[in-house]
Amino acid sequence: MIYNKLGKTGLEVSRLGFGTMRLPTFNSNDEINTEEASKMLEYGIEKGINLIDTAYPYHSKTLEGSGNSESFVGEFLAENNLRDEVYISTKSPSWAIESEDDFEMYLDEQLEKLQTDYIDIYLLHSLTVPDWYKVKDLNVLDFLDDCLSSGKVKHVGFSSHIEVDYLIEIIDEYPKWEVVLTQMNYLDEYYQSGIMGLEYLKEMNIGSMIMEPLRGGRLVQNIPGEINDLWNMAEVKRTPVEWALQYLWNRDDVDCVLSGMTSLEQVKQNIEIASTIDKISEYDRELIREVARTYRGFIGNRCTRCGYCMPCPQGVDIINCLTEYNIAHMLGDPKASAMQYFTLIDDDSRADSCVQCMECIPFCTQMLNIPEELQKVYEYFGSEFDHF
Ligand code: SF4
Ligand code: SF4
Repeated sequence: MIYNKLGKTGLEVSRLGFGTMRLPTFNSNDEINTEEASKMLEYGIEKGINLIDTAYPYHSKTLEGSGNSESFVGEFLAENNLRDEVYISTKSPSWAIESEDDFEMYLDEQLEKLQTDYIDIYLLHSLTVPDWYKVKDLNVLDFLDDCLSSGKVKHVGFSSHIEVDYLIEIIDEYPKWEVVLTQMNYLDEYYQSGIMGLEYLKEMNIGSMIMEPLRGGRLVQNIPGEINDLWNMAEVKRTPVEWALQYLWNRDDVDCVLSGMTSLEQVKQNIEIASTIDKISEYDRELIREVARTYRGFIGNRCTRCGYCMPCPQGVDIINCLTEYNIAHMLGDPKASAMQYFTLIDDDSRADSCVQCMECIPFCTQMLNIPEELQKVYEYFGSEFDHF
């Protein structure tokens, strides 16, 4: 295993972190196959993974309720006497916070589930811009100060899918942020905070943890023929997983890549890749860019995310509605995109809030009939998440 310093935390973390949102399950998302999942964690830790990432809602029945991932991790570490061998990263459910007292209430519940007195890395989970303003008004920064001084939490940060301007705004408001968990893979360099966000983290010496390195598995499953043809042109032959992971580990602004693994086979495969230094040549880097361009050719509409159509008087988040629809077509994975669509876009900002007033149409730089496109989005995703 290869280890990196996680920004100013000073922690030496394995460059592969164990994500626990996609553990093997039985019939439903909340029924973790603990026997199989335990074998995976045991193997991972034995081979040098020292960061386990979980969150309050992982492996819950719904998207946002209390999940079983934290309890499983807590039980596994306690039973095997491994708590001090790993760093635990978990997250405060920022969307669920309604009062100042809620911060502490969730943290205490999480400590109990995890069977520990402290959390190494505590992140505000999936901060949207409205949630950031909400938790700030509820004095979240005082709460984080208290967590750090009491020792319940060793390092604080946030996870987010926001655009780079907001990422920078949030980082600049609190000098004690030490870690940010952000989405990155070779398709997403200019999506959400993208590479500009990573560069800013590096500049501020904030540890970077990466989510969605395989785009929920879509970069490595059912690869279209055009993409396989491109990979066959590479100077060094790699598997799709190797391309995706080594792309990230070739960046000096990536500290730890979280992979949500579902089988022991995946754990073994990822550990082997994480233990190999594989410098990608300039030719192969250009090939990765060509693969990304080809994937983008499969999109469902021409929205460039320029933002000229916003704001919509009804509050529809036109850009992200169209983007998630595009991603679903590009990667052929409705479930993963639906999860993003329903978690990242507020109830009132989804496609079904469009009243077809037509006001946005003249502003579209791509001449899209936006309400018609939103209707397609609505027909595709529906009005509620029912993909579990
Ligand atoms: S047509 Fe729909 S998206 Fe466009 S401005 Fe009107 S309500 Fe908003
Ligand atoms: S103006 Fe058109 S291309 Fe630009 S974000 Fe809006 S829908 Fe997309």
